[in-house]
Amino acid sequence: MPVVLWFRRDLRLADHPALLAAVQGARAADDEVVALFVADPALWRVSGSPRLAYLVRSLRALDEATGGRLVVRRGAPATVVPSLVREVGAAAVHVTAATEPYGRRRDEAVERALDVPLVRTGSPYAVAPGRLVTRGGTPFQVFTPFRSAWLDHGWSAPAVRPRTVPWASVRSDGLPDEPATDVILPAAGEHAAHRRWRTFLEDGLDDYRWARDRPDLDGTSALSVHLKYGELHPRTLLADLAARPSSDSVGTYRSELAWREFHADVLWHHPGAAHRSLRPVVPDDAWASGATADALFAAWAEGRTGYPFVDAGMRQLRATGWMHNRVRMVVASFLVKDLHVRWQRGADHFMAWLVDGDVPQNQLNWQWVAGTGRDAAPYFRVFNPVTQGEKFDPDGDYVRRWVPELRGVAGRAVHQPWRLGLEAPDDYPSPVVDHATERRVALDDFHRRGG
Ligand SMILES: Cc1cc2nc3c(=O)[nH]c(=O)nc-3n(C[C@H](O)[C@H](O)[C@H](O)COP(=O)(O)OP(=O)(O)OC[C@H]3O[C@@H](n4cnc5c(N)ncnc54)[C@H](O)[C@@H]3O)c2cc1C
Repeated sequence: MPVVLWFRRDLRLADHPALLAAVQGARAADDEVVALFVADPALWRVSGSPRLAYLVRSLRALDEATGGRLVVRRGAPATVVPSLVREVGAAAVHVTAATEPYGRRRDEAVERALDVPLVRTGSPYAVAPGRLVTRGGTPFQVFTPFRSAWLDHGWSAPAVRPRTVPWASVRSDGLPDEPATDVILPAAGEHAAHRRWRTFLEDGLDDYRWARDRPDLDGTSALSVHLKYGELHPRTLLADLAARPSSDSVGTYRSELAWREFHADVLWHHPGAAHRSLRPVVPDDAWASGATADALFAAWAEGRTGYPFVDAGMRQLRATGWMHNRVRMVVASFLVKDLHVRWQRGADHFMAWLVDGDVPQNQLNWQWVAGTGRDAAPYFRVFNPVTQGEKFDPDGDYVRRWVPELRGVAGRAVHQPWRLGLEAPDDYPSPVVDHATERRVALDDFHRRGG
């Protein structure tokens, strides 16, 4: 009897423990592995076109890597997976465990509908979410102790890549159509992911500690989308980092991967955090509503708030489906604390445009900035969009790259065009709000609730 390997967020063949388990199962029965991907309408409906287009490209790469044997089926997994199992007479379905709320529910439903085992091996993380707890046996609420426990716990070495896999030849519905998008997508697939990682190891890692905060430079690894789709596994990255001489940059990069694991762990313990604030910070009447909120939100989403650093970020998002982390923090803070729009609305917009859009990382980072998370930046930390721009885009190059109206403004003056008087470009908007005023409003709201 063959076995099924159901690919989800693990679109690779290297360092793939569930693939090894499937190959072992198939070889024991002298049979084959059916490579399955299910185009699940529930996920297709809520994912933005840039992310879906990327996913289709990544599936194409996986199909090539399996010698054209990827079997794509469309429909609800609880129907499609058992029906494929019956069709091929499979003995088991192998998966990498899903850890986020929708994936967990989906897998439980599939497991109930199957009359063969659903075998979970590994997870998309170095340490499976839920595994680490404090000495008191409770979930971690704060990042730093989580990171210490994570480092102490450690992780396995990368799994070997099987030299050959006996892929089965089974009818496929064919790859889904690639949705149209204007977003310039990064190269997709396992090879592209490894290429990007090698380039970063050679050219970027040494400077990462300081360059990672500079959106005007190409100072980060740009691996988030590859990690999102599991085109490479963090274990592989951690093993490569361990082989380098230790340095601040190596430590900082490892720490960023720990944030990814921390957020997945928080969401494991608090699935409701995908939609609800973990702690409310301001009274309900503090939020903008109706037409005012809609107009402010539209200015933010379209990159015309009149704050150049914010607008550059929002336009980078629309053009590339990615935004630099420093700028993500600033635009998120601006929406919540300057425009008083709830974080959930911003998080939805990010999920519609981000190619790396990922529920644990997106929702928990939004909660961190909004001050509503467990280990959150305190609510009274309000990012100043001007000083952040001046500090992290010191010559204004990032702003000029994404905001063409300001290309004629030299140097850091680009961060405050309203100071240019008659020289100010007349096609760039004036600020939609006054930052100093709105910061005070946010702090008053916080104190009204007893913060
Ligand atoms: C409001 C907001 C929303 C975000 N939404 C997402 C999202 O949907 N998907 C996503 O992958 N990341 C998200 N992030 C985290 C971070 O911005 C991106 O992971 C990072 O910008 C990706 O670029 P990179 O791969 O070049 O990062 P690098 O600086 O090269 O970092 C390496 C890896 O570490 C991890 N990492 C880095 N920073 C963080 C962080 N703050 N939280 C968790 N993991 C981190 C990522 O996996 C990243 O690929 C969000 C951050 C904020 C503030």
